[in-house]
Order: sequence, then C-alpha cells, then structure tokens
Amino acid sequence: MQTHQFEVLVVGAGGAGLMAGLYASKTAKTAVISKLYPTRSHTGTAQGGIGAALGNIEEDHPEWHTYDTVKGSDYLGDQDAIEFMCEEALQAVYELEHMGLPFDRTPDGKISQRPFGGHTNNLTGKPVRRACHAADRTGHMILQTLYQQCLKNNVTFYDEFQVVDLILVDGAAAGAIAVEIASGETHIFHAKAVILATGGHGRIWEITSNAYAFTGDGPAITLRHGLPLEDMEFFQFHPTGIYKLGILITEGVRGEGGVLINGKGERFMERYAPTVKDLASRDVTSRAIYLEIRDGNGVNGQNYVYLDVRPEQVNKYAAIDGRKTPAGAPYTVTGEQILARLPDIVDFCRVYLGVDPITQPMPIQPTAHYAMGGIPTNKYGEALANEKGKIVPGLYAAGEVACVSVHGANRLGTNSLLDLVVFGKHAGLRAAEFATSAEYRHLPPDPAAFARLQFERIFQADGKDNAFDIATEMKKVMFDGMGVFRTREGMQAALETVRELKERFKHVGVTDTGKIFNLEMMNVWELGNLLDLAEVTTVSALARTESRGGHSREDFPQRDDKRWLKHTFAFVDERGKVELKYKPVVITRFEPKVRTY
Ligand SMILES: Cc1cc2nc3c(=O)[nH]c(=O)nc-3n(C[C@H](O)[C@H](O)[C@H](O)COP(=O)(O)OP(=O)(O)OC[C@H]3O[C@@H](n4cnc5c(N)ncnc54)[C@H](O)[C@@H]3O)c2cc1C
Repeated sequence: MQTHQFEVLVVGAGGAGLMAGLYASKTAKTAVISKLYPTRSHTGTAQGGIGAALGNIEEDHPEWHTYDTVKGSDYLGDQDAIEFMCEEALQAVYELEHMGLPFDRTPDGKISQRPFGGHTNNLTGKPVRRACHAADRTGHMILQTLYQQCLKNNVTFYDEFQVVDLILVDGAAAGAIAVEIASGETHIFHAKAVILATGGHGRIWEITSNAYAFTGDGPAITLRHGLPLEDMEFFQFHPTGIYKLGILITEGVRGEGGVLINGKGERFMERYAPTVKDLASRDVTSRAIYLEIRDGNGVNGQNYVYLDVRPEQVNKYAAIDGRKTPAGAPYTVTGEQILARLPDIVDFCRVYLGVDPITQPMPIQPTAHYAMGGIPTNKYGEALANEKGKIVPGLYAAGEVACVSVHGANRLGTNSLLDLVVFGKHAGLRAAEFATSAEYRHLPPDPAAFARLQFERIFQADGKDNAFDIATEMKKVMFDGMGVFRTREGMQAALETVRELKERFKHVGVTDTGKIFNLEMMNVWELGNLLDLAEVTTVSALARTESRGGHSREDFPQRDDKRWLKHTFAFVDERGKVELKYKPVVITRFEPKVRTY
C-alpha cells in the first residue's frame, strides 16, 4: 500500500476544490484528489452565471444581494455568512476575470450581467441584472480557468482516485484513504488538513439534473464517523428540467425573456408571483408548475408545461412587462441572439428532444437539482462537530457538499458558483494556515482497515439482490415521497422503503471481481452512500412540521418561525439510528417576513 504525505489534501476538483487547492498551494504542499478527471466535474455543466452585485448595467449593491439571498433562503440562511459572501462576490468575480475567464461583455467592455430568479432591485422589487456569464457555459469556463491556475501553481493532482474513507485521529483529520480506480490499489494520504469538496448527492432522485458522480461520497463518509449533516431536508427542485430526462434548462432562459406557459396557453406565473413573474425563486416556481400539472393544466394532459423562448413570444411578453434595454429602448430579441446567448441550451433541446427552441416551446418539469444541506461549516470552511459550533481540527468542507449556511431553505440561482469561489478560497487559506503550525498526527497501525472491510463485504455478498433494482426503487420513492410537495404519509412510505432497501443492499455483490477499473464495485459502494443520505434526508424532513423553502408540506403548509427557525443537525449513532439536534439561525439585520415575489 502506497503512502503519500501532503500538508493540505483537497478531495474533489470542481470549482470549490480547485479554488481551495489554488489558495492552499500558495503556502502549503497541496494535493487534489478527484474520482473524475478534474475538468469533468459537475461545475463544468453550470450554465447561467455567477452572482455579484457589480452594477455594470444598472444600479445594484451587495446589500441588495444579501437581502435577496436571505429572502430566497426563506430566512433559514445564516445572515452573517450571507453578508460575507455577497460582499466578497465582487472581488471573487474580478479575480476570475483577471485569471483569464472569458466573460461575455457589455458594448463598453465590462462584464455582462443578466437577470436571474429572486435577484431584485430592492427599491422596485423588479428583476436586476446580477448574473455574470460566459454564454451558457459559465461553470465550464470557471473550471477550465481554475484548473489552469492550479497547474501553474504546481498543485499535485491524483486523477481518478476515489476517496473511500477519512482518517480521523483523536477527533482530528489526519488524511484519507483512496482507491486508484485504474489499478484497484488502495493509497493512504497522510495530511495535516483535509478539505472535502465532493459536490452534491442529487442521484437519490429519479428525475435529476445531476451528473452520475453526484453520489454524496463526502457526507456519507463523515456521517459514518459520527459527524453531523446540516439541513438535509432542504433539497432544491429546479423548475425547468427537460421532460422525463431531467437535463437542466438554465434559468438564464427566463433571464433572457423566456416564459412558462401551461396547457391552456396561459402565462401562469402571473398568478403566483405578480411582481417578478417567471423570475420568482426556484421553490416558488417549481411549486407553481407542479400545481398547474396537478390541476390538469399540463400540456396535452401530460406531466409537463412549456418553457417558451421563441423570439415572438419573448418580444410579446417583454412589451407587456414594459421591459427595457439598458439604453432605455423596448427589449427585443432575435433568433440569432438567442442562439448566441444560449447555445448549449439550444443544442441540448435539438439533440435530446428533437425540439428547436428558436421555433418550438420546450417541454419541462421540475428536476432534483441542488443540496442546500451538507457538512456543517463556519464561514471559513471549518467543519463543525456539533450544533454548538465545536470545530473538527484539520477538517474543512466547501462547495455543494458544505452547509455554511448561505442558502438556507432555498438557494438562489448563481449563488452556488459564487459559494464555490468564495468559500473554496477561504477554506484553502484556513487549511494552509492551520497546516503551517500543525504537526502530522501519528497514523493508526492500519488506517485502511474500515475501507477494506466495506469492500470485502461487497465482494463476499451472496448476490441475491442487485444494485440497479435497488437504485431504481430508491429514486422512485424519493421522487414520489420527498419531491416538490411532501406529506407525512408520503415521507413515511419513502423512509420505510429506503430502510428495506438498506437491508436488501447487504446482499448486493459484484460480478466483476477484478481490480482494474472495477467501476461496478465503486458504483455499489456509491449506492450505499446514497441510501444512507436518503434515510437522513427523510428523517430530517419528517421531523420538520412546517413548510419552508424547498421543504413544502401539504399537511403543514405554513412556515412556523416560532418552532422551526433553526437548523437541523442529523447524527447517526453506532447502531445506525438517526438522531436530530438543532442550532439557531444567525439573524443580523433582516427579521423574518412573509415572502412575496
Ligand atoms: C446542470 C447544472 C447547472 C448548474 N448551473 C448553475 C449556475 O448557472 N449557477 C450556479 O451558481 N450554480 C449552478 N449549478 C450548481 C453548481 O454548478 C454546483 O452546485 C457546483 O458546481 C458544485 O461544485 P463543487 O465544486 O461543490 O462540486 P463538483 O463540481 O461536482 O465537484 C465535485 C468533485 O468531487 C470529486 N469527488 C466526488 N466524490 C469523490 C470521492 N469519493 N473521491 C474523490 N473525488 C471525489 C469529483 O470528482 C469532482 O471533482 C448547476 C448545477 C447543475 C447540475
């Protein structure tokens, strides 16, 4: 077994991991481990933009961005952390620009910005242009730019190494265990500080925008070490996934003037969000679509509505809304402009649907999209051991895997890419600072023992059940019971099925017993992670008897600030029982109010 030693070890090479690696490597010997080749990380699929109140096109302020984020979070986000992120946003975007990121430009050469859901002018309540973008490939550009900077800074990369366990010594992080996928060999990474940046876990649900690799490895690993997960009940459903496939159609489409239309030809968002209409926050818009479909207003009686960005429709509704260009002229678009601003979206629809968005409306339905919950951290990326704020020495988390919490119960579009660069950077800085004064901890005699045990179990299983069937059932019950709307019965049924599936999972083995590129084995291990997280998500949701942000209960339709203005901390004890504790929300300037859009 090979052992490697680095001062800072980053697990994950998406936007958060690369930013952390880049900053840590300025002063510490740093490695980034990734189960995917770095530029294949999910960050590369982010389309619409990164939020920052640059005010390049119209008046905007970080305080407005802060308020919108607090409101978008349904008042569950911690306001000190949100303020910090929205203020750091300007510098973060300029830094990306100076690293060479090819943002779209305004005619006078500034970074171009477009409207996005929930981002408003706080005086008028109307949408504001705050999303900085590179066509509809913003995440791709961020990933490429940061990867190049990391290479320039001599970060050591271990590509296609999958971390399967964390080494904790006396409650402090001391490294990680990884499987080299090409050879099947186990490697020990001994480190002074470990930063987890492993992304989300949307593969729990049937219809999802998430990549196959979003299997929640990081949070499943920390959970097994007795560490908590925060606010797992809050999972975002994005309003516009391609019907049945779940592939994301960015909110940028509506930012450019696209509208949602039901089977009766109505622009129904006027009824649900009279001020911002199609640019309401995602929780509000997903619920509206769901209700339209349930009321029989889906297109042709089916479970979808249309997202329409045909130029004649955009121009018609822009005129009704009185939308203007920055120069004050009526806002209009042509087919060429749609193609230039949303090239990938047009391509996806042509390829996967046989629909051309320039001449036809797109059939869409809500799709599981983003984990607001995750490994609890403070705003420096330091992982928390409990609801009282105790820190796990040497352990950090950043990006979608972490819960700072800046997104609270519902994330605003463009705020994840921002979260990656801001908190990735601070986690990297903190970890490097910690590593310069800390010593390497003595490793236990056999640090890979637990990791080995997990894989021996898979190889020795009787094979009576198979991973595909279990995954299919999990995805279906979670989509039905833990989707856009929830009830006690639905969630209880999902939980019971997930627990049965966890029992059946013990029989799942592999047909490939070799070592080289044994992806079957890794997929089985990943399914175990998803099942564990599905259980914690459902238990956390059942306990919360209110509706807030992405957690919308038909049996408890109101938000209940008296009892539930608090974060959930879920722990799993040695017997596998989920235990819930709670932590107060940090409120600085904005007292909770009723949300309207
Ligand atoms: C289709 C789509 C479009 C989006 N568009 C936007 C947008 O326009 N604006 C916005 O703000 N947000 C957007 N988001 C959300 C945002 O892109 C993600 O939340 C964000 O990119 C996650 O970044 P990350 O660095 O946390 O994780 P990722 O980019 O997913 O990186 C995770 C990394 O962890 C590695 N990894 C995982 N498990 C292991 C393991 N066990 N061992 C080793 N390595 C591991 C992976 O290889 C990968 O490198 C979008 C998301 C999707 C799915």
